[in-house]
Amino acid sequence: GGRVFSGIQPTGVPHLGNYLGALENWVALQTQNPCVLYSIVDLHSITLPQEPAQLRSSILDMAASLLACGIDPERSVLFQQSQVSEHAELSWILGCLTSMPRLRQLPQWKMKSKQKNEGSVGLYTYPVLQAADILLYKSTHVPVGEDQVQHLELAQDLARIFNGRYGELFPEPRALLSMTRKVKSLRDPSSKMSKSDPHAMATVRITDSPDDIALKIRRAVTDFTSEVTFDPETRPGVSNLVIIHAAVARISVEEAVSQAKGLDTGAYKQLVSEAVIQRLTPIREEIHRLRKDPGHLEGVLALGSGRARELAAPVLREVRQRVGLS
Ligand code: ATP
Ligand code: MG
Repeated sequence: GGRVFSGIQPTGVPHLGNYLGALENWVALQTQNPCVLYSIVDLHSITLPQEPAQLRSSILDMAASLLACGIDPERSVLFQQSQVSEHAELSWILGCLTSMPRLRQLPQWKMKSKQKNEGSVGLYTYPVLQAADILLYKSTHVPVGEDQVQHLELAQDLARIFNGRYGELFPEPRALLSMTRKVKSLRDPSSKMSKSDPHAMATVRITDSPDDIALKIRRAVTDFTSEVTFDPETRPGVSNLVIIHAAVARISVEEAVSQAKGLDTGAYKQLVSEAVIQRLTPIREEIHRLRKDPGHLEGVLALGSGRARELAAPVLREVRQRVGLS
């Protein structure tokens, strides 16, 4: 067993990509490791503009979503990043070990600064804060989706650079990818499904009603071939549906394709949406139940943030000492 850390931004209700690419794995790892931390990374979310009241409620929505997906605050430390100021402090120190060109090629910056024309300094240095999130707990394993692999390589580099300059302190964290490492947008199968996608039809949220799920999957972009085959390169749209189907039904891709035999894409979409609805219904109901008691959610996060601070403080103290800041 190792030390596990991962985070999710409170930028909206999680979607199938978050759930299948990361959260399912988060839940499994809780029982196999002695030290597991999961963070609602609100400092990351303000790299793009957020309305304050909306952000506050999104943090509680995220807490409810994580609990409903199976995160157990008895087994893992579930906390709010901004409540542990050591994250920002370590991020500054690591930023001083990072060159500007190293950050320019990273995917989050390339994607999100393009959408915004001009990205903020925070958006640019986001992967440094992410490295700090991970290293602050001397984490060894980081369950993420495929889009975060390059960011994790920066965390590995920074562990090496810090250790090289100041003496061995941080283990090099490893990415843990789930079987479903990348779910694509239902509107544009060349890009990944994203919480912050403004197009409502692009994502299936874990709180979507059965009618919404059916509608979104019915409208999912596919191609002009009516037979269902799995070929992510040439048929990304229909292959994305196969990947979703296999993951929610807990079957292999081959098994999903064989269940589609004789169905055209229209009929297959119906089968996929039924499988998704079946999988998400208990989660959706649990989120609605939890959301009725915001005090309970705040209490869970406050407790978790206290525990995270206790773990972070001695590591940051050691970092300050090594750097000569004590
Ligand atoms: P945002 O658009 O605000 O960045 P997001 O959907 O990318 O939201 P994050 O909070 O950035 O979600 O990431 C949370 C976790 O979900 C990360 O581990 C990330 O790799 C994973 N993830 C995000 N999108 C997908 C996807 N489409 N497929 C698989 N995993 C994903
Ligand atoms: Mg993201």
